[in-house]
Amino acid sequence: MTEASITSDLLVVGAGIAGITAAVEAAETGLKVVLLEKRPYIGGKVTQFNKYFPKLCPPSCGLEINIRRLRTNPKVKVLTQAEVADVSGQPGEYDVNVKLKPRFVTDRCTSCGECVTVCPESRSNDFNYGMDRTASIYIPYENAYPSKYVIDPVTCKASGCKKCVEACKYGAIDLSQTEETINIQTGAIIWATGWEPYDANKLDVLGFGKFPDVITNVMMERLAAPDGPTKGKILRPSTNGAVNSVAFVQCAGSRDENHLEYCSSVCCMASLKHTRYIREQYPDAEMDIYYIDVRANGVFEEFYSEVSRDPKVHFHRGKVAKVSLDSSSGKLIVEAEDTLTGTRIKKSVELVVLATGMQPNVSGLPLDRSQIDGDGFLVSGGSGAIACGVNTRPKDVSAVVQEATGSVLKAIQAIKGN
Ligand SMILES: Cc1cc2nc3c(=O)[nH]c(=O)nc-3n(C[C@H](O)[C@H](O)[C@H](O)COP(=O)(O)OP(=O)(O)OC[C@H]3O[C@@H](n4cnc5c(N)ncnc54)[C@H](O)[C@@H]3O)c2cc1C
Repeated sequence: MTEASITSDLLVVGAGIAGITAAVEAAETGLKVVLLEKRPYIGGKVTQFNKYFPKLCPPSCGLEINIRRLRTNPKVKVLTQAEVADVSGQPGEYDVNVKLKPRFVTDRCTSCGECVTVCPESRSNDFNYGMDRTASIYIPYENAYPSKYVIDPVTCKASGCKKCVEACKYGAIDLSQTEETINIQTGAIIWATGWEPYDANKLDVLGFGKFPDVITNVMMERLAAPDGPTKGKILRPSTNGAVNSVAFVQCAGSRDENHLEYCSSVCCMASLKHTRYIREQYPDAEMDIYYIDVRANGVFEEFYSEVSRDPKVHFHRGKVAKVSLDSSSGKLIVEAEDTLTGTRIKKSVELVVLATGMQPNVSGLPLDRSQIDGDGFLVSGGSGAIACGVNTRPKDVSAVVQEATGSVLKAIQAIKGN
């Protein structure tokens, strides 16, 4: 049970790398902060990555330090499974109602996992983009914070089965929990609600959803991750066998007036990074990258050059027109036109990775139209709204961290009435 009313200097909505950064930076200046997250754990999309470009270090490096800063700072209160229902007031004095979904698992949980062994129900694992399943009582991922189980109310038959309650020797499962509404009085709000991948099902000519060996870039992160559905071994979904040839389709639905008109700015770097994932496991795999322009500016240029030196990575300037299945070989056929040479390409590959873009996560936020631009991103500073992270424009993590830190200054100005 959370207290029904909380007073804070700053409310941060969304606990990805942007929101966590804003919350810890603000708290370390002495502000009292509430950090809200709609998922059962904090960290956002970077928790689902295998490695960060360009250094190829695991995202846990930066994230763990920030989570430690949060945990050890008494000025920050973290609420998960929490979403803003409505906001009234103005900069300096906001009145916010927040809905908290039940977790059905209390702070007594030691994450021993006994409950999982008896749970008879299962759910599609959204952390792995549906590539595997978990029990209906689950921990979102191994190092999740808070480190507590959660029950999916849709697949759990709470009314009949109580096997997890009986198995939990700590009495940590409470199936009677219901949704609560709490009130937060705060001086400023930072919206850090991030992004969702563009829905690849809308790209019908590229075969996603039709052919199992067509996956998206975010799925590739999970396939390569040691805690992913294949324990880090990159396998062809259709055969569970080795991958000898891969096509990366850049701008899949991006810079396209029928889908997303804008460039998501990180997809080229993400695919270049994915060639390294493949190369680590398959020294002889052939890879093709179909691109409009390779956008790897500034510090990323060297990473691009390094990948270009791989003799088995082939760059083709041109958009992919079609992906189909060759039923005799079970392989995929990628068709494109190379606009540099004017030649038509038709190549058979075992795996296709769609570099889908990032869409701002703003639906359901209590903001007015003037705070959202033509592409759906938040306009930070417009009508008193302060925003940071990918919900203001696509960007990489280091740019997100800088913007989040800057947004705290804007929040301090709002709190002080400047
Ligand atoms: C395939 C791919 C690979 C990438 N690889 C890299 C890389 O290697 N290096 C790099 O620097 N960048 C990389 N990026 C970019 C990186 O993912 C983003 O910069 C980063 O995720 C942005 O963080 P964020 O906090 O803005 O958003 P998010 O990570 O999306 O976090 C937003 C948080 O807000 C929560 N939320 C959303 N709506 C609400 C709401 N209404 N109420 C409460 N909470 C809410 C979400 O659940 C989430 O936890 C990659 C991107 C892609 C597509």
